Amino acid sequence: RSLEQVLADGIRDIPDYPQQGVVFKDITPLLADHTGFGQVVEALAAAGKDDDGNPVVDKVVGIEARGFILAAPVALALGAGFVPVRKKGKLPAATYEESYALEYGEATIEVHQDAFAPGDRVLVIDDVLATGGTVEACLRLIRRCGAEVAGTAVLIELSFLPGRKRLEGEQVSALLTV
Ligand code: IMP
Repeated sequence: RSLEQVLADGIRDIPDYPQQGVVFKDITPLLADHTGFGQVVEALAAAGKDDDGNPVVDKVVGIEARGFILAAPVALALGAGFVPVRKKGKLPAATYEESYALEYGEATIEVHQDAFAPGDRVLVIDDVLATGGTVEACLRLIRRCGAEVAGTAVLIELSFLPGRKRLEGEQVSALLTV
């Protein structure tokens, strides 16, 4: 199967979740598809390789929670370490935190202060790029740690939202744009 077919088979629309008017992209069928999941991991990992296919990142960041599921196998595929970026209050050691605006209110994410070595090259992975607020805050966290952002790769980009515009100047790749 082509990657395109794998994504078409494995991602479903759930209307009115988590609230009225929102169409939620559910990736659980894709995760349950062993060969499809493998193809998706390989495709995401390509964002952490050079033109000759050699890995060029030291760490892969996964954003809680679905980002973890994708980022951990990508890290292994790249021979890189995995670093979790979590919602506030979940990480046990000293953290940096960054907040960003949601439609109603604010969200805060954190990373361990010692998660990266100075100059580490970092690939960020998440499932969905919507408004871009989450990824933008995540990139601020990585840079505060003294690490270098190599790029961001997402499974799905919602192009009717201004995520890519907000991340102008950043390297962002998406396996599927809707
Ligand atoms: P953003 O900060 O507006 O770009 O939202 C991105 C975050 O919200 C990601 O961490 C996603 O996991 C989550 N998200 C937004 N929309 C969806 C969706 O349709 N399906 C799954 N996750 C979503």
